[in-house]
Formats: sequence, structure tokens, C-alpha cells
Amino acid sequence: MPSIVERYAQKFRTSGEMYKRGAEVVAGGGHQSRTVLPHPVYVDEARGALKWDVEGNELVDHMIGYGALLLGHGHPAVTDAVTARIAKGTHMGTISSLEIRWAELVTNLIPSADLVRFTGSGTESTLLAMRLARGFTGKTKVVKFREHFHGWHDYASPQSGINTQVGIPGETMSTVIVVEPDLAEVEKLFDRDDDIAAIILEPTGGHWGQFPLPNPGFLHELRALATRSGVVMIMDEVICGFRMSKGGAQQRFDVKPDLTTMAKIVAGGLPGGAVGGKAEIMGLLGSSDPSMRLAHPGTFNANPVSATAGIAMLETIQSEPVIEKADAAATRLKAGLRDALTKMEVTGHVHGIASIVHVALGVECTCPGDICTQPHSALAEATSAPRSEMLKLAMLNEGVDMMGGIGFLTSAAHRDKDIDRTIEAFEKSVSALREERFI
Ligand code: PMP
Repeated sequence: MPSIVERYAQKFRTSGEMYKRGAEVVAGGGHQSRTVLPHPVYVDEARGALKWDVEGNELVDHMIGYGALLLGHGHPAVTDAVTARIAKGTHMGTISSLEIRWAELVTNLIPSADLVRFTGSGTESTLLAMRLARGFTGKTKVVKFREHFHGWHDYASPQSGINTQVGIPGETMSTVIVVEPDLAEVEKLFDRDDDIAAIILEPTGGHWGQFPLPNPGFLHELRALATRSGVVMIMDEVICGFRMSKGGAQQRFDVKPDLTTMAKIVAGGLPGGAVGGKAEIMGLLGSSDPSMRLAHPGTFNANPVSATAGIAMLETIQSEPVIEKADAAATRLKAGLRDALTKMEVTGHVHGIASIVHVALGVECTCPGDICTQPHSALAEATSAPRSEMLKLAMLNEGVDMMGGIGFLTSAAHRDKDIDRTIEAFEKSVSALREERFI
């Protein structure tokens, strides 16, 4: 019986060859290629909840554009609008009316966004939000939580669980304080340091909920602490915005941050992002006082193609039961994964909110399966490499692409039969992992 890695190398042989070719010209082999060892899968085509690799292997997609494609791949509302837009011009070198419509949708949907500004990505959104907070407060430091991911720029990099610190000046690092998601620790920090501009967090907990926060109480108390200390609260809704609810995590948990960072769904699956927030902070952009004016140029910010995709996506979310469908797929998936673990007598826990599903093998929990109450150390152990890497490969062998071997995202395009394939693949993959003693 070939091992997981051997089966992978055999099934994705063309991708392996491509990876060798890619390594000749693309630094590091390719975009994020090191996240799938021994080589990534090359995919050039996708539709609905499915995608096909370069040699025709069909995969149920739970990456779904790293969360950007809440409608699934190639939804006609988005593709028709974008196709028509491209024919009319992709960049006019002026402002376009589409920016206004896009902004109206975002400010209507996101409760705390009085005003919005569009960026090129989630990374740019968190960078802009931090600069806005620093400009507004006149203070220097930003507080972030360990294992919370906010993109790849310098200020987002410390202890994000993904970035390294190579190439980042020590001076920059010293302006970012990393703490545990512990309210007492945050309170002490706010009390002893009066140079803190902002606190940024993923409202679901680190890595889209791999390490949950004790929501919603935690968020409410953090909100109160930030207000009391004059610290700008930045909610990073890059993944959960328009997914946790139409108004994101802030609507679901009824907490109003000062600034919200968005990307992925907001741009309809095309490159783009946004920062929304209180008018008094957002007003720094374009302030009539030159000493307060915060500059934010950028060739492709609010470009008409991304705006068109964003508008189509947000209008569809607003008018159709998109979130309900994606959530129903996740509910079916969670139940199926749990049943599989029980049937196979494998210790493991499945948790997640809305259309987010996380799996932790080797750990048990009595929580209702939404906001997991296990200590983060136990969840870290359960989802660490090589187990998570092998789960990712084993699932690919069975025709499913999951997020980083730690969980799944669902979309409105995931049909019952797609979810059932994922559950079946999970059973086979767990069995392969057990055979090779990864669990
Ligand atoms: N914040 C969060 C919470 C994210 O999940 C991500 C990307 N996964 C980012 C920021 C960065 O966004 P982007 O990849 O668009 O730069």
C-alpha cells in the first residue's frame, strides 16, 4: 500500500513536474508553494464548488479563493458583470461612479462603517487601518494577539503564525506589542503604556477561528477597555466580513469597532480590500488640515473591475440567501465529520461558526461545536505539522482541497453531494493518517 506522500506524488505527477519548472523562474517555487509539501497542486479551472488540476483531477474546493468566493467559482452575477465591465474599460485613470455604489453597499452592510476607503488587498487594509489609528491618536504602538493573522506587511508580521521576521527592522518590530488574547493582560498593558494607538484582532480568534476567542463576551469587554483607554479598536474582518452575517462578525456579535478591515468577499473574488470606520478617524483621508491629512494613493485602489465584482457580490449577498446556504453546507459538513470520527473511534473535535469549519484531531471538547473552549495549547498541538500537512495531502488524494489541513470554508455553491464527498474523503484520509501513525 503506497504511503500518503507516494499516492500524492503519483496522483499529482504533472503538478510535480510543473513545480520543478516553476522553481526555475519563480522565487521560492511559486506563490505560497511551501505551504503544500512536497509540491503544490496546479489548478487552472474551477466552477461552483469544484476545481480541476492541470491533469484533470477533480477537487471539491474548500479553499474557495481563500474565502473570497462566498458564491462559489464563476457565479454568473459576478462573471457577467465583470465581463461586461472589462469590455467598457478596466482603468480610466479617473475616479468612477462604481466606487460610490460599492461604498454605499459596504456602509449599508457593515454597522460601524460611516465611511469606507478601498485598497488593493487585506494586507493593505490592515496597513492603512494601523496608519489611520496612529495618525488619529498621535500614538505609536499597535497591539496584536498572538496567532492572529493580518497580512504580510511589517507591522502585521510579529507572531502571526505564518510570517517570519526576516527583513523587518527591529525598530518597526518594537512598535508592535504581541499579547495573549487575555483581557487582564490587555488591561494591564493599556494601563502601563500610554503610547498605544490601536489594538487589532480577528474577531473569530486567530486563523479564522482555529484558536477561538471566548466570544461574544470577550469582544464586548475588549471594546469597553479600548474605549476607556482611548485605543482604536480595529476588527479584522478580512475573512469573516459578509460571512459571519451580512454585517460580518461585528453584527453577529453586536460589537462596534472603530475601524474594520475587509478584503476577499468585499471585492467579489477579485483583488481588493477596504477599510471602514468612524467618520472622525476616516476623515483623516482627505482632511483639509494638511498637518492631519493621511495620503492613500494606489494605482488599482477602487479600480472599476474589482468594484464591479464587489458590487455584484454584495448585492447578491444582500438580496439572496447566500449566507444561509453556505452556513447550511457547513452545518452538514460539521455533522458528517463528527459522525465519521465517532464511527471510526478517533478522538477529535469539530468546531466553527457560520461557514467556517475547524478540525482538531486528538482533542475532545464538550463545547456545542461553535466556539471551542479548549485551551489554545491543546488546539495548537492537535493541528500542528506534520499531522495537519498530512491531512491536507491525504484529503487531496481523496479529491478535496481543505484550508491548510486545519479546516474548511464553505460557499453557497457547495451542494449536499459535494459536502458528502468531503465527508467520505475525510473518513478515508483519517484512516490513512491512522495507518501511518500521524494520529
Ligand atoms: N487579515 C486576515 C484575517 C486574513 O485572513 C488575511 C488573508 N488571509 C489578511 C488579513 C491578508 O489579506 P490579503 O491576503 O488579501 O493581503
